[in-house]
Amino acid sequence: MESLDLSPYGYYRFPIPMRNVGWLGPEHGLQTEAPQPLREGELALLRQASERVASLMLGTHDCDFCPRALAAKGNGEYRYYAPEGDVYSAPVMILHYAEEHGYRPPAVVIRYRCASPA
Ligand SMILES: [Zn+2]
Repeated sequence: MESLDLSPYGYYRFPIPMRNVGWLGPEHGLQTEAPQPLREGELALLRQASERVASLMLGTHDCDFCPRALAAKGNGEYRYYAPEGDVYSAPVMILHYAEEHGYRPPAVVIRYRCASPA
């Protein structure tokens, strides 16, 4: 699945509306004109918010940006709950995209230190 950042999420049924983050693929690439890798502090926040995997599926998704034979694989989603009530869904691959390919999630995901509910 590939979706534009902040577009409405519709991949899997979920009781509350969510927006897509990090559903990258070959059509839209990294979705930034000039990738600006996350600084270590920002990356730490993203890792901290990405501790709990939701919606595991039966298959895996290969990274479209790695060489095919070495492609990282992911399965599942992270959900980020912003304090103002917005919810974002990202593939588990979002950490790989940020760490290895310079993907920068929308500022809202980093700025509010989104975290999964306890
Ligand atoms: Zn990759």
